[in-house]
Amino acid sequence: MAPERSDTKNISSRNPHTDKRSVAVVGGSAAGLFTASLLARQGVPVRVFERIETLEPEERTLIVTNRMLALLGRAAQKSVVNEIRHFELFTDGRAATVTLKHPDLIIERRTLIQGLAEEAQRSGASIELGRRFHTLHPNGRGLVLEIDRCDDGSREEVRADTIVGGDGASSRVAHAAGWAPLETVPLVQAIVPLPKDMSPATARVWFVPQDTPYFYWLIPESPTRGALGLIGVTGPETRHHLEKFLEKRKLDPIEFQGARIPLYKKWVPVRRQVGRGSVYLVGDAAGQVKVTTVGGIVTGFRGALGVAQAIVDGRFSELHTLRRELDLHLLLRRSLHDFQQADYSRLVDLLNDPAKQSLAEYSRDEAWKILWRVCLSQPRLVLLGLRGLLSRSRSLRQTGL
Ligand SMILES: Cc1cc2nc3c(=O)[nH]c(=O)nc-3n(C[C@H](O)[C@H](O)[C@H](O)COP(=O)(O)OP(=O)(O)OC[C@H]3O[C@@H](n4cnc5c(N)ncnc54)[C@H](O)[C@@H]3O)c2cc1C
Repeated sequence: MAPERSDTKNISSRNPHTDKRSVAVVGGSAAGLFTASLLARQGVPVRVFERIETLEPEERTLIVTNRMLALLGRAAQKSVVNEIRHFELFTDGRAATVTLKHPDLIIERRTLIQGLAEEAQRSGASIELGRRFHTLHPNGRGLVLEIDRCDDGSREEVRADTIVGGDGASSRVAHAAGWAPLETVPLVQAIVPLPKDMSPATARVWFVPQDTPYFYWLIPESPTRGALGLIGVTGPETRHHLEKFLEKRKLDPIEFQGARIPLYKKWVPVRRQVGRGSVYLVGDAAGQVKVTTVGGIVTGFRGALGVAQAIVDGRFSELHTLRRELDLHLLLRRSLHDFQQADYSRLVDLLNDPAKQSLAEYSRDEAWKILWRVCLSQPRLVLLGLRGLLSRSRSLRQTGL
């Protein structure tokens, strides 16, 4: 049973400022479609422009916290293919297991997007496929978007008072409205047969700092298949490391999935005024990705909720909360980024029971609560993090960044 849509209830149902003010959303994927749904539910006229021609986006196996269901409700339910109750962490022959109080969800991206599209249409948004955003400019009262039709190459002009860019890491909307490009990192994963010794309710994480400052993961999507992947620094090197890792574990890839994900380096202000119109960014287009794990699904939905609130009510509270959360993940990432093998070994050793409970009780979308509990239960972990932070700031100074 999905939790109530409590997270989305607090957009006011009256929208005096937005009556008849039209919104064009560019990008019919997770963040764009959710924004469209939220706005359409409030009676805002919304058109979504998506460049792909059918609602058959690439398949991807994703892991998210159960916060997603609180945000999306029924639109997300069909996409859930498995639940994760334990994480096993490995480094240099050591291991620790963390049991989650609230299971993480394994979701299939294509089904998720199809569910979100149905929900957006049911709420009154129109979705126009095979429409590629080219650029935007102000006109007297609002904005004009230039949209290319993918079937015959013709270009049309669409008027809107507000544009929302949900068009991913290399957002063309952001570029056209004057935002700086975002730095990105490659993420590659292979779908593999699940090793015989592995339970479908357990995900595995390996810290191998000589290959990546992030980690490898293996997340089961069913009792027989899982996604094994890593986040890297450069594309070819990342793929090479993944292939070596698969070889070492004698796992034959069934297919590969990958793309570049924005690196959150600081909060990206999500609104710009262009002439008399407004342009907003959501999801990967705004770099709304937890930089600890490079997970952007739930934070992108929270960005969508924040932008919908801003458009409908002129309120920015959800965006402020999201900013605090993303900044905290940045702090955690900085403290981990230069960890050497010995640091990871100590980290896994230090994951004693009280600290594990902190990790288990709260989800990755509640980083403040985790950090606070870890501080109380295992101060040595905090010292280890601070050491990482100091060494990170030294190396940033040396490279002049
Ligand atoms: C292999 C892989 C695994 C991942 N695993 C996880 C995970 O486990 N957990 C997690 O939380 N996150 C994960 N991520 C990250 C997550 O998928 C992204 O953060 C999230 O999908 C971003 O959603 P979005 O809607 O902001 O952007 P996108 O999904 O990138 O969507 C952008 C949309 O805009 C459209 N578009 C682009 N340009 C134009 C244009 N000019 N005109 C019209 N339309 C346009 C695109 O076709 C696309 O539909 C993973 C990413 C990858 C690649």
